[in-house]
Amino acid sequence: MDPKLLDILVCPLCKGPLIYKKDKQELICKPDRLAYPIKDGIPIMLEDEARQLSPEEKVE
Ligand SMILES: [Zn+2]
Repeated sequence: MDPKLLDILVCPLCKGPLIYKKDKQELICKPDRLAYPIKDGIPIMLEDEARQLSPEEKVE
């Protein structure tokens, strides 16, 4: 994914910054505990497509 893209992307729910998880190809919103998938290099910024993080998952 283009790192420049990360600078302009925000969480669609809280408009907060996202954390790029390269290993999982996900963009994570820490306050909402949602992980938005990146498919073929394109972030899917839809709440319906996002994965809810489990309580065990650490977000740094
Ligand atoms: Zn959010």
